[in-house]
Amino acid sequence: MSDCLFCRIVAGTIPSKRLFEDDRCVAFEDVNPQAPTHVLVVPRRHVATLNDLPALGEEGEGLAGHLLRVAAEVAKGRGHDGPGYRLVLNCNAQAGQTVFHLHVHLLGGRQLGWPPG
Ligand code: AMP
Ligand code: ZN
Repeated sequence: MSDCLFCRIVAGTIPSKRLFEDDRCVAFEDVNPQAPTHVLVVPRRHVATLNDLPALGEEGEGLAGHLLRVAAEVAKGRGHDGPGYRLVLNCNAQAGQTVFHLHVHLLGGRQLGWPPG
């Protein structure tokens, strides 16, 4: 979608600090980091929210698993696998979703509080 921020980042028309990309997803640094590591993993195809994933059937299931695997690999690459890290997926406004293109936040590098705000 041409008016979607993360579609533009995926297309490269808006710059980002990319850490990883493959045929299904792109991982890049969050512009407003909330931890020493704050990376976003987004699918290349536009999916607005997690609510829209089940309609994609097996492709959606595969995509969800892939986003998690890539997040885990980026976390390991940063050395967060041992100490620990957090993945966050905000779905819709009450959860704090502000960009309506599915994304997984990877947070690591500091002690993270629980429960989240
Ligand atoms: P959410 O609130 O879950 O929708 O997360 C959206 C995230 O996108 C926030 O953490 C923002 O800091 C981040 N963000 C917004 N614009 C950009 C951008 N141009 N490049 C990288 N991250 C961005
Ligand atoms: Zn999009």
